[in-house]
Amino acid sequence: MTGEKICVCGHPEAVHRHFRRGSDCGSCGAQKCPRFRRDKQASQPAETGQTTLPAPGNGRR
Ligand SMILES: [Zn+2]
Ligand SMILES: [Zn+2]
Repeated sequence: MTGEKICVCGHPEAVHRHFRRGSDCGSCGAQKCPRFRRDKQASQPAETGQTTLPAPGNGRR
């Protein structure tokens, strides 16, 4: 299952979800990881609707 989101710090999102304020990492600390950030290298397509596909042969110089 690939439903777990991993932060750039290497910890899952669950670690960033705590009773404290904010979404800093519970293991790294707010100094290293102030907030949950999804790893860009994750093998998951952008689901934000932002598709930056290169135009094939369009405006080619
Ligand atoms: Zn983190
Ligand atoms: Zn962490």
